[in-house]
Amino acid sequence: LFVDETLAAGTTIGLADDRAHYLRNVLRLQMGAALRLFNGRHGEWRGRIARLSKGAADIAIEVALREQTAGCDLWLAFAPIKRARIDTLVEKATELGISALRPVMTQYTAVERINGERLRAIAIAAAEQSERLSVPEVHGAVTLEKLLADWPGNRHLLLCAEAGSAKPIAEALMSHSSKDLDARAPWAVMIGPEGGFAPGELDGLAKLPFVSAVGLGPRILRADTAALAALACWQAILGDGRSRPPRCASPQL
Ligand code: SAH
Repeated sequence: LFVDETLAAGTTIGLADDRAHYLRNVLRLQMGAALRLFNGRHGEWRGRIARLSKGAADIAIEVALREQTAGCDLWLAFAPIKRARIDTLVEKATELGISALRPVMTQYTAVERINGERLRAIAIAAAEQSERLSVPEVHGAVTLEKLLADWPGNRHLLLCAEAGSAKPIAEALMSHSSKDLDARAPWAVMIGPEGGFAPGELDGLAKLPFVSAVGLGPRILRADTAALAALACWQAILGDGRSRPPRCASPQL
């Protein structure tokens, strides 16, 4: 369970409304049941339900189970897409380990508004389900110009380019994996909207020193598919996809 509160031995956390409802009616936990909690700062802790009523629950925090580890520093910059697709995109990208969502308005972006609160709720649920110890940050939408104007120069940008002279993604990432320093550097994956990037946008992006334009093969993928394919490749070649899966999916509490 993700909580905002400080996690420390001997403290008690009070949960209200939705969160108490989730424990009682969704997870069907009862008084005395143990659960695992994280807040993105203090690692994972075992807690026990010390009080449970209709609209409120108290969780007594007992012992630390896992230390907080720094996850991948990997942003997903994406042009907002329609509701059902953006929801799956956020869920799956969270499972794939992104650290931040950076919605970006490009020339052909058709969706004007995003609901940051809903996206954060989806990211929290996906972080809980995938046993991450942090929730990706959900940024507000900015124009492509603004995103690039504020871009931290040391962050590599893997641009998924459906046109132009892009290298195959694996080839581009493998050339980075051989450079030790680069493999630890912060990264971002960027995908365009359903209408694609405007030719001027692609040309402008491809010229920037921190951009590697890559292709994902001969088929045109939908934006959400392209994002997830690129993230999976990045994780496999440069990220934590190289480490082993957890030995036990649900460690005993
Ligand atoms: N309407 C556009 C396709 C847009 S696909 C057209 O027909 O050309 C949406 C986004 O997914 C693209 O902007 C790109 O970022 C990514 N994408 C889709 N297929 C891709 C591919 N084969 N290689 C690289 N990126 C791709």
